[in-house]
Amino acid sequence: MTQYEPVIGLEIHGEMLTDSKMFCGCSADYGSAPEPNTNICPVCTALPGALPVANKKATELAALVGLALNCTINKHNTFARKNYFYPDLPKGYQISQYELPIAEKGWLDIQDGENQLRVRVRRAHIEEDTAKLSHEKGAALIDFNRAGVPLLEIVSEPDMHTVEAALDYATKIRAILRYLGVNSGDMEKGVLRFEANVSVRPVGSDEFRTRTEIKNLNSFRALVRASQYEIERQTKIYEEGGVVRQETLGWDDVRGVTVSQRGKEDAHDYRYFPEPDLPPLKLTDEWIEMIRGRLPELPEAKTARFVSDFGLTLSDARFLTSERSLADYFERVVATAKSPAKTVHSWMAGEFMRILNDSGTDIQDVTVSPEAFAQLVDMVTDKVISGNAGKVVLNELFKNGGDPAQIVKEKNLAQVSDTGFIQETIDKVLNDNPKEVEQFLAGKETIIQWLMGQVARATKGKADPNVAKELLVKALEARRK
Ligand code: ADP
Ligand code: MG
Ligand code: ZN
Repeated sequence: MTQYEPVIGLEIHGEMLTDSKMFCGCSADYGSAPEPNTNICPVCTALPGALPVANKKATELAALVGLALNCTINKHNTFARKNYFYPDLPKGYQISQYELPIAEKGWLDIQDGENQLRVRVRRAHIEEDTAKLSHEKGAALIDFNRAGVPLLEIVSEPDMHTVEAALDYATKIRAILRYLGVNSGDMEKGVLRFEANVSVRPVGSDEFRTRTEIKNLNSFRALVRASQYEIERQTKIYEEGGVVRQETLGWDDVRGVTVSQRGKEDAHDYRYFPEPDLPPLKLTDEWIEMIRGRLPELPEAKTARFVSDFGLTLSDARFLTSERSLADYFERVVATAKSPAKTVHSWMAGEFMRILNDSGTDIQDVTVSPEAFAQLVDMVTDKVISGNAGKVVLNELFKNGGDPAQIVKEKNLAQVSDTGFIQETIDKVLNDNPKEVEQFLAGKETIIQWLMGQVARATKGKADPNVAKELLVKALEARRK
């Protein structure tokens, strides 16, 4: 039977973090508006005679993303009207870029399972967000606070052939947008949305068959599930001798199915034409170089540097560079810690992340200073405290702040290698557990772990484990006679 493979191209819409909207002076931070329809003006509500003015900061951010994605920046780029009717679109058209986008012909290297894959970025263009419709109590409500917020649309070529590749591409784009400060990546808030274009074809062929477009995917999970569903649905259609209809689909997350929204419109349905109210954007080489100068070290480059400078594994480095603030924090800890970078990574990937996740804290809001964290890791490395005591100290630092050495003192956590004290504890543990001692003497060596656990508990984790182990073995052997 014919085997099918998917062909996937992604369109990603991200709101840009500017102060004002794309074509007027209203705040782009529509989430802070106290009431619906208060963050509006004649331009973003399309009153007759109101004229748009392009947002300079949005242009800079769009170019920055274009450069980060290895695109050519078009020194002459233009706005266009994309005409369609929908109640959330006050003008009856969306101002977008069509023939000449600000950036095009770039690429992004991603991971496709074990393989590296270069995905071509067709274009990145500026446009504006729509208003928000909601349906309540039998009425359709419209809030224009969001209308006109700057959007960047990033369009890939249909270069991906697995869902994993699409997921990695989307993940990397989000990370880059966050690194650049262009978008918060807050998918629950809808500031970043994916559209997956999916078709399938016989493995080995290079044809492009009819695709469907799944709109408004608001999470990575939805992107993955919707793509998988669509691949299976289309494969089944071909296997049964049918034809796939070109259409725009929505994703029903509850039922786990794609649903038809409308037959897909072609470009000519939008009656694109140049926006007469906005002049073309004329960019100079100097301006482009000025923007290029703002590019920070991006995740891929940072990952490579973490591997070579700190001797981390690729996956450890990837974890740390997944967020710019996480990477920065790590570097600040490493800069003051005497412990190896690898050890710092273990602490960050372990207890540190656990605390962040459990408390829902963003890395940006962490109050524990990198210096205090470094000091704590060093105390464990130097065996001043045990690993478990280290966790106690870290949790205390998160809860109440303070100085690690002071916390160790106050909580009496310092590790004891004083053999007298440990010996006493061991004798007590062995006397209290004669059955286990018998088992050991009968040859069940694994019972040592359990006895070590009893010693650790009796000493509240303060006994140096190496010293304790040695003494425990000796004490057990002594009972052979
Ligand atoms: P439109 O402009 O009508 O939205 P495009 O052809 O410009 O359509 O492509 C939009 C998106 O669809 C792009 O991300 C592109 O990679 C993807 N795409 C195009 N053809 C296919 C196909 N046959 N299968 C999957 N994705 C496709
Ligand atoms: Mg599209
Ligand atoms: Zn406005």
